[in-house]
Amino acid sequence: MSQTSASRALFQNIQTEAARLGFAWIGLTRPQPPAHYAVYTRWLELGRHGDMTYLAGERGRQLRAQPGLALPGAQAILALGFPYPKPPPAPPADFGRIASYAYGEDYHRFILPKLELLRARISALAGMPINARGYTDTGPFLEREFGMQAGLGWIGKNTCLINPTYGSYLFLAELFIDLELEESSPFKDDRCGTCQRCIQACPMSCILSDRTLDARRCISYLTIENKGVIPPELRARLGNWVFGCDICQIVCPWNRFHHPISAVIFPDHVRFPPLQEEIHLTPAQFNQKYKNSPIQRPRRRGYLRNVAVAIGNSNNPRLIPDLAETLAQEPEPLVRGHCAWALGRFQEPSARAALDKAARHETDPYVRSEILQALESQGSQAGKAASSEME
Ligand code: SF4
Ligand code: SF4
Repeated sequence: MSQTSASRALFQNIQTEAARLGFAWIGLTRPQPPAHYAVYTRWLELGRHGDMTYLAGERGRQLRAQPGLALPGAQAILALGFPYPKPPPAPPADFGRIASYAYGEDYHRFILPKLELLRARISALAGMPINARGYTDTGPFLEREFGMQAGLGWIGKNTCLINPTYGSYLFLAELFIDLELEESSPFKDDRCGTCQRCIQACPMSCILSDRTLDARRCISYLTIENKGVIPPELRARLGNWVFGCDICQIVCPWNRFHHPISAVIFPDHVRFPPLQEEIHLTPAQFNQKYKNSPIQRPRRRGYLRNVAVAIGNSNNPRLIPDLAETLAQEPEPLVRGHCAWALGRFQEPSARAALDKAARHETDPYVRSEILQALESQGSQAGKAASSEME
């Protein structure tokens, strides 16, 4: 057998092993400088990464520019995709929405061990020990570019890597190896064509023409990576998303035929948490309910902040007592502040009474400012309602 056919046969066997481990996609590329590196540095220079300062560190920039530095002797990068479930239809507004990748266990917990198993199987197939290093959103790389170079799909206008068969509901992963194998052909087509659905559907208008996002306005960033206050002018547009957002994937026509392969991995996890219960989660209850879940990432205070905003957007006055109780009793100022904003969205006298009462007792300057703004906005909404009645 020639060296080329031996290399092809080995790669086919690696594909079979990867499929056995649940990976739907696998392709191979070289650890070469990425074509989109300049787009990435410009994105950083414009500050569109928000507070994710770890993305701008010197070591990270170096590795993104020269991915081969990640593993001495790296010859190839196996680019892999692991499917996760497609989101079901939206729930009523008094239930929260969670990005579907977070329905189950934190993906780092099961994908990294699978990459280690794959390394061991490749070693056995090659008949010699190999050095390898696996990543799944855990290294400073332009992962989607690896996928495109490895022939798995194209980077859509919504910035996701899209595979023509599986769509974009996939976790991306890479295994750097020091084994020489023939690389796959890059994916050259842009199959978005004239479609604009994701751009039109994004409630935050943050999808940019160079296939990047202004993260500072994206719901995924605001509800997960952002550790502080959600800018008041953006809160109403978050709807009932309490962790991440799938809108730009839901509307994508390439996700219509998504393969339901992941059902085995994600059996009965929380999909639509009831806002009325979530706002009262104690630290112990939160940790128990979301043990090993990606929902731990914003921590309880960030998650309850998101729940408060979702209640403010629910238009359901039955939830006013829950906001009032949380504003009076919750120890985290961040959560109390967003509860005050949420109460300001309701015109019911009970919402105003809760704000008035809190204004008399609240000592935290940030929460006080939220309460005063909420009272003001209620006053102006009431004023508007009264003047339209008089007209
Ligand atoms: S995740 Fe949501 S907010 Fe972010 S770009 Fe997509 S549609 Fe817009
Ligand atoms: S919705 Fe349309 S434009 Fe957006 S990523 Fe999908 S195909 Fe491309």
